[in-house]
Amino acid sequence: TRQWQLASRPVGEPTAENFDLVTVDRPEPDDGEVLVKTLYQSVDPYMRGRMRDAESYAEPWDVGDPMEAGVVGEVLESEADEFAAGDVVTGNLLWAEHAVADADELQPVNPDLGPISTALGVLGMPGVTAFWGLLDVGDPNPGDTVVVSAAAGAVGSVVGQLARISGARVVGTAGSDEKTEWLTEELGFDAAINYKETDDLGSAMAEACPDGIDVYFDNVGGPITDAVWPRLNVHSRVAVCGQIALYNETEVPTGPRKLAKLIETRAKVEGLLVGDYQDRWGEALERLSTFVQEDEIRYRENVVEGFENAPDAFLGLFEGENIGKQLVKVGER
Ligand code: NDP
Repeated sequence: TRQWQLASRPVGEPTAENFDLVTVDRPEPDDGEVLVKTLYQSVDPYMRGRMRDAESYAEPWDVGDPMEAGVVGEVLESEADEFAAGDVVTGNLLWAEHAVADADELQPVNPDLGPISTALGVLGMPGVTAFWGLLDVGDPNPGDTVVVSAAAGAVGSVVGQLARISGARVVGTAGSDEKTEWLTEELGFDAAINYKETDDLGSAMAEACPDGIDVYFDNVGGPITDAVWPRLNVHSRVAVCGQIALYNETEVPTGPRKLAKLIETRAKVEGLLVGDYQDRWGEALERLSTFVQEDEIRYRENVVEGFENAPDAFLGLFEGENIGKQLVKVGER
């Protein structure tokens, strides 16, 4: 069986050379473990942080180690009571065609409830991030203006729709016209800015948010966040979820400097980590799946075919190649 290992640590933008495709013996499950065949593998922006040798909320990978990823897979062999061959499961496994996991690290996926790939997207970690990040940290009220960056991505697309459901005016930023059209035509955003085609982001933001900004859900940082900052309203909330615009910087520019804005507005800026919501994970998934069934929340997936293309799928995140959740299709049931 094959797995991807970290070949070297990237400096700046990661490249294909940072990944090694290696053939290894198929692992065998011990007592309490199951052997899982990967059907879908997730690639996520936070993995860039794990390629770096630095302390963060997720442990760095060692060079030469297999990399980890969210996986939806089929149980091939089970040495645990909880699962039987043929079950579909999800969990944090490896960038691998097969992996062994403790049964208690896996959750069942019910294929009758919808496409199993959604367990890595709208009905998985990104969905939960959007749900609690917006509702707990952003705390939108009816009539508020909510801005979300990387709005056509896995997290951002769900944030915007939840904000719409909360009765807010919703504005998103994204990197192509195809994306901004999807946001306004299909997801019910009130306005969307293609930041790659906008010379003056500040004026575009002012035009899209005539009443200022009450909630900013930040997935990207950098110039988009700079354009939001002057338009924060009194008692606004900033939920800092991601800073993808800065993940490949070798030296992050100094900042933030414009903190006087927070005195003027008494705005609250708060970082969020989806792992803090373990206890409320199920509640988020239940509510999200109801919204999906009712067509209140729509989602897209960008599925890259073939395990050998997993690094390309990951690198594509930094080029904005994905609309919705970026996935790799690795195997068939
Ligand atoms: P997405 O599906 O949103 O994919 C990443 C997107 O980021 C790309 O499609 C691209 O879209 C955009 N992007 C890439 N580079 C830049 C740039 N330089 N400037 C602006 N936008 C850029 O990924 P996720 O939904 O999985 O994650 C979104 C963010 O949320 C990430 O920052 C991630 O790290 C963070 N996150 C945080 C969690 C937490 O617990 N705090 C949990 C999960 C995710 P575009 O075309 O718009 O440029």
